[in-house]
Amino acid sequence: MPNYLELSAYEIVEKVKAHELRVEDYIASLYERIGKIEKEIHAYITLTKELALKKAREIDKRIKKREKVGKLCGVGIAVKDNMCTKGIRTTCASHMLEDFFPPYDATVVERIYDEDSVMIGKMNMDEFAMGSSTEHSYFGPTHNPCDLRMVPGGSSGGSAAAVASSMATLALGSDTGGSIRCPASFCSTVGLKPTYGLVSRYGLIAYANSLEQIGPITKDVRDCALLLSCIAGHDPLDSTSVNKPQEDYMKYLIDDVDEVNIGVPCELFGEGTQEHVAKSVWDAVSKLEGLGAGYEEISLKSLHYALPAYYIIAMSESSSNLARYDGLRYGYRVPDKSYDWSTVFSKNRRLGFGFEVKRRIILGTFALSAGYYDEYYLKAQKIRTLIKRDFETAFEKFDVLVGPTLPVLPFRIGEKVEDPLEMYMCDVDTVPANLTGIPSISIPCGFSKGLPIGLQIMAPPFREDLLFRVAFTFQKNFGFARLKDYE
Ligand code: GLN
Repeated sequence: MPNYLELSAYEIVEKVKAHELRVEDYIASLYERIGKIEKEIHAYITLTKELALKKAREIDKRIKKREKVGKLCGVGIAVKDNMCTKGIRTTCASHMLEDFFPPYDATVVERIYDEDSVMIGKMNMDEFAMGSSTEHSYFGPTHNPCDLRMVPGGSSGGSAAAVASSMATLALGSDTGGSIRCPASFCSTVGLKPTYGLVSRYGLIAYANSLEQIGPITKDVRDCALLLSCIAGHDPLDSTSVNKPQEDYMKYLIDDVDEVNIGVPCELFGEGTQEHVAKSVWDAVSKLEGLGAGYEEISLKSLHYALPAYYIIAMSESSSNLARYDGLRYGYRVPDKSYDWSTVFSKNRRLGFGFEVKRRIILGTFALSAGYYDEYYLKAQKIRTLIKRDFETAFEKFDVLVGPTLPVLPFRIGEKVEDPLEMYMCDVDTVPANLTGIPSISIPCGFSKGLPIGLQIMAPPFREDLLFRVAFTFQKNFGFARLKDYE
C-alpha cells in the first residue's frame, strides 16, 4: 500500500496544502485498498466512490489556484450509518431503513464537508447502534483488522475497523453507552465521547437521546483533537446543544502531566476484568506517574449500579424512539394487500427489525409501563443522579479518572452474540460517562497475545482539554506502536 495511507489526517492535510500530495491520488488509493481488503473486513455498508473522487478533483483544483481550504482538506473520512447524509443511503444497519435516503445532512456531516474532508462511505454498525460487537447488523458482521476471527467492538465497529486498516483516515462514530470507545479500544485506535451537548445530534438517528454523542475515531490523539475542533460547537437545530464558543482543541496537545491528579476507581476493575487488561492499565498509570502525575486508588460505590441503570434507561428511550418505524410513517413496509392496520403494523415491525432491537423495544416498553415505571425507570434515574454526584465529588479532588475501556479483550465472532447479558457486561466501564454526560477518551495502552487493550480517561464536563493533555502525553512518550504485548 502507498505509505501515505498510513499517514494521519494532520499529515495528509499538511502534504496536500504543500502541494506534495494530490487528493485524487490519495482518495483513489484508499478505494484501491478497500477493493483489496474490504471483503475480509466488511467495514462499509455503502461506498460513495464517485462523489468522493469528484470532490477530490475539486479540492485539487482549489489547491492549485491557492484558494482557501478547510481544516480537513482532502482527508478521507468514514461516517457511521446512523448519521443522515443527503441523498446517500442511511440504513442504521437495519432492514427497516434499508432504502432510506435522507433529504438533509446531519449537522456533523455538514461540518466535515465545510472543512473539505472527503466522505469515503457509510459504515457498518450494530442495528440502531444496539450492541458492542457489530454482529447485530442486518448486513452481516464486521471483522477486527487486528485479528479477523475477532469482533471489532461496537456499535461503531465499521468506523474503527476502517481507520485501523487504513481504508479511511478518519471516522465518525456515536456513543450511547460506549459505542465509540469500545471499537476504538478493540481496534487499537483512539476514540472520544465528547461531553453531552458539545457536538450536535441533529441528523443522528436516535437510539437514546439523553445518553448519546457523536465523536471522532482516529489513528492518534492529534487527529482526534483536529476532528473534534471541526465538529464541536453550538447548533440551534439541536436543543441540547450547548451555546459555547467553538474551540481549537489542538492547543491542548501538551506533553506534560506534571501535577495532574489521577483517580483510579476500583469499581472499574470489577469482577470479570481480565488479568492482562488490568495489568496493562495499571502499567499505564505507573507510566503517567513516572512523568510527574499523581495517582490514588478510590472507590465510587454507585458504579455497581451503573450497568443496570444504563440498560433500563437506554431501552426505555429506545422503545419510544423506535415507535415511529411502523412502515406507514417511516420504514420498511411488507408487500401486503391487507387493510387491517394492526396486522400490517405488526408485520412491518416484526420483519423490519432484528432480534436484538425487538428485545430492547419489548423490555423498554415493559420498564415504562404503568405499575413498573416507578420500580424500574424512576429508580434507574435516581441511580443516575447518585452516580453523577459521586463523580462530582471525585472531580473535586482529581483532574481525571482512569480505568480500562473494557474489562475484556476482543472476543471471537459468535462467542457472545447468543448471550445478551454477557454482551451487555462488556459495557460496564463505559456507561458511567454516558449516564453522567462527562467526556471520555479511549487510547491504546498495550496488547495481550496480539489483541489490543484500551485505557479509558474521563474528565469533568467540558474538560476535553485534560483528556487531550493526558492522552497526548501518553502517546508522545510511549508511542502506540511500541506498546508492550503481555503474553
Ligand atoms: N453496547 C451499548 C448498547 O448496546 C452501547 C451502544 C452504543 O453506545 N450505541 O446499548
